[in-house]
Amino acid sequence: MIIKVRGRSKESEINRLKKHLNDSGFELHVSQGINHLIIGVIGDTVAYDTRGLYGFECVESVIRIQEPYRQANIKFKTSKTIVDVGGVRVGGDKIILIAGPCSVESMDSFMKIAEEVNKLGADCMRGGAYKPRTSPYAFQGLELEGLKIMDKAKGKYNMPIVSEIMSMDKIDEFEKYVDLVQVGARNMQNFELLKALGKISKPILLKRGFSNTVQEWIMSAEYILASGNPNVILCERGIRTFENYTRNTLDVSAILAAKRLTHLPIIVDPSHAAGRWELVEDLSKAAIAAGADGLIIEVHTNPEEAMSDGAQSLKPSKFKELIKSCRKIASAVERDL
Ligand code: PEP
Ligand code: MN
Repeated sequence: MIIKVRGRSKESEINRLKKHLNDSGFELHVSQGINHLIIGVIGDTVAYDTRGLYGFECVESVIRIQEPYRQANIKFKTSKTIVDVGGVRVGGDKIILIAGPCSVESMDSFMKIAEEVNKLGADCMRGGAYKPRTSPYAFQGLELEGLKIMDKAKGKYNMPIVSEIMSMDKIDEFEKYVDLVQVGARNMQNFELLKALGKISKPILLKRGFSNTVQEWIMSAEYILASGNPNVILCERGIRTFENYTRNTLDVSAILAAKRLTHLPIIVDPSHAAGRWELVEDLSKAAIAAGADGLIIEVHTNPEEAMSDGAQSLKPSKFKELIKSCRKIASAVERDL
């Protein structure tokens, strides 16, 4: 870290700053420029709150050199992490496909959708049993019943299941039924939940909050890793911008940033980014071209009647077309799909 000291600062104030840094275990390299004193701070700053230094009157600016995350950092683990989701490897050569409805609605409809996505070659099934809806009057999900329905489909089609957890008190249910535990955009910074998920044996799909920076997203992954669970998959799902043609704006550069900064696999959810089914195929192609390790897509046999997110759900025939065109992009970037 580098500290620029304000010109004409009192010597006593600078000494107080130096003592604080020494007491915090850092070595200091001080250099006097023409107008400014610069203090180079040597040591492990990963757990150090650099913003706190602005409390010293003599500090004009602080530049952090070391990232505030260690376990998620590609500098400390150069090999890519491959996460095993019930036998499906995420982050390897093969791009994986997760597909299914936004919400699990009934045994009958879920089984039909599962049959279709299985036939088309999806690797895992998605479905929400606990739904984070904007309105308390909207369908909230079938809860445990929804997880049991997914479990039945898993038994029949032998595909791992992905579902969103919203609170810590449901961890036992998720450990029992779910292969990949999704943390939704709205819970990305629910730190108590993240710490608790760091203690379970199932892998975690960590969606990016719609108003969070890439660094905040990686810090949330760090919470899970630092609590003991190394199996984290990142998911870009669109962020809030001023644009309202789409529901959110798919941040393609976040895929590149995550790849450069971490060793974790990253998948993309073009359905929640777009909010409109007709954009999902092309956004999927963009995600694969940018290096995504997989896609999570909302598919419904009857989107017109879906209990949530029908507008962005693909019919199986459209999902089939998506896979076909994504395969061409995958081969162009030398990946399997
Ligand atoms: C979902 O996957 O159904 C969902 C609610 O996603 P997000 O948290 O990205 O909005
Ligand atoms: Mn949804």
